[in-house]
Amino acid sequence: MIDTKHQIRFDPTGCVGCKLCYKACFVDVIRWDEENKKPVFKYVEDCEHCFYCASVCKKGCIEVIPDYSSEKLLQTFDRYL
Ligand code: SF4
Ligand code: SF4
Repeated sequence: MIDTKHQIRFDPTGCVGCKLCYKACFVDVIRWDEENKKPVFKYVEDCEHCFYCASVCKKGCIEVIPDYSSEKLLQTFDRYL
């Protein structure tokens, strides 16, 4: 596993269970809790820092906080720059 302090903060207070964040995530970070109708941020180390989940949430429930010094993020930069 890649060492990272990357964080995704989720405030369920305003969440309306629309599933948009779950659908937006193209990797396996966000799973769906069918019983509670809420996203579950499960594999944060796989996050690609695209901010799609935070962008699509109109309720402002999600905050993506990249660890800019992590090996994972440096690998992402290497791929796209
Ligand atoms: S996009 Fe926002 S409101 Fe919709 S399920 Fe995800 S966290 Fe909840
Ligand atoms: S930032 Fe992108 S890759 Fe990371 S959890 Fe959100 S949608 Fe998934």
